[in-house]
Amino acid sequence: AEPTPEVTPEPTPDIQVVDGVTYVNGILIANKSYGLPADYAPGVSEEAQSAFEEMAAGAAEDGINLYIASGFRSYDYQAKLYQRYVDRDGKEEADTYSARPGHSEHQTGLAFDLNEVSDAFIGTPEAEWLAAHAHEYGFIIRYPADKVEITGYKYEPWHVRYLGKETAAAVYESGLCLEEYLGIDSVYAD
Ligand SMILES: [Zn+2]
Repeated sequence: AEPTPEVTPEPTPDIQVVDGVTYVNGILIANKSYGLPADYAPGVSEEAQSAFEEMAAGAAEDGINLYIASGFRSYDYQAKLYQRYVDRDGKEEADTYSARPGHSEHQTGLAFDLNEVSDAFIGTPEAEWLAAHAHEYGFIIRYPADKVEITGYKYEPWHVRYLGKETAAAVYESGLCLEEYLGIDSVYAD
C-alpha cells in the first residue's frame, strides 16, 4: 500500500498581546497590522545598542563606517514625522515609506536607521556589508527590496531590526522577510 503522505499544516503564529504590545512567537512586532500603545516608550534597547556597537566594530575591521542616524522614536515624534510626509506627498505615498504613529518599528527601541537614510545608500559598500553581515550581530534588513508587497514598505537597506543572533540568522537563512517568517501580514485596518 502507498504510504499516506504526511500533511504538514502551516504553522499558526502564536500571538500574545501584553499591555497592548504584540508578540508573535515571542518576537515583539510593530508593523501596519500590529500597533503599539501611544505611551509605549522604552527608549533604545540596551541589548540592541550594544549589538550595534559590536556590529560597528566588526564593520570597522572591514573598513566600513556605520553610525546610527535614527534610533528610538516616540509615538508623538512619529506622529509629527508622518504628518509632515503626508502634507508633502499625500497619505498613499507617505504610507509606502513612513509609519503611522503607533506603527513604527522605531517606537520599539529595537530598530535603527544607519548612515544615510535615502535611496543614495542603496548599493553602497556600507549597504552591501550590512546585507551580508547584519545577521551575524543579531540584526536583519527589515524591509528588503523583494518584499515590498509583504512588508508594506519600500526597500530600506539602512533600516535594521534587532532580533538577537539566533533569530536574525534564522530569518536571514530563510530568505523570508519577518512577516513571512512569522506567518503574519502588514496591512492597516483602515
Ligand atoms: Zn527606519
